[in-house]
Amino acid sequence: MKFSKKVVLEFPQHTWDQPIIYALNTKYDLMFNIIKAKITPRQEGVMTLELSGDKENFDKGIEFLKEVGVRVRFLAGDIERDEKLCTHCGLCTVICPTDALSLNRDTMEVSFDKERCVGCELCVPLCPFKAIIMNIPSHSQRNSLQNNRRGNKKP
Ligand code: SF4
Ligand code: SF4
Repeated sequence: MKFSKKVVLEFPQHTWDQPIIYALNTKYDLMFNIIKAKITPRQEGVMTLELSGDKENFDKGIEFLKEVGVRVRFLAGDIERDEKLCTHCGLCTVICPTDALSLNRDTMEVSFDKERCVGCELCVPLCPFKAIIMNIPSHSQRNSLQNNRRGNKKP
């Protein structure tokens, strides 16, 4: 059965330069589409990618990732920030590994750059004002997105 899921992979320092993603393809026949990747200042890596392939191979590939020390999370949706709730306290900027959340020291305002966000969700529980949420598409939205993708593939 064909299976596809977005996953967030966090690579500890010792794993980042190993051909782990390549092995997912060669050992488990999984296709991957890298959505975002970033090496943090501490030399750890965070990568969001879409993995697809046979469900059994998918599960084996995930097990393989865990065995080699990669932290794996499944991405349910997109990170959103509620501008009305955010007080620009700056707390989330301390934990964000990609600088998607950053503090402008001149204006003391926190900006959110969605393009840099890898969906690790570290900021979600940290925000005291619940200004950051994981926006999970509804079942009908997911169907509509899938239909659009299928439609886009037609010549
Ligand atoms: S922790 Fe919450 S309130 Fe504080 S800057 Fe970040 S999003 Fe805004
Ligand atoms: S989920 Fe939050 S902490 Fe993680 S990269 Fe996105 S903004 Fe930064």
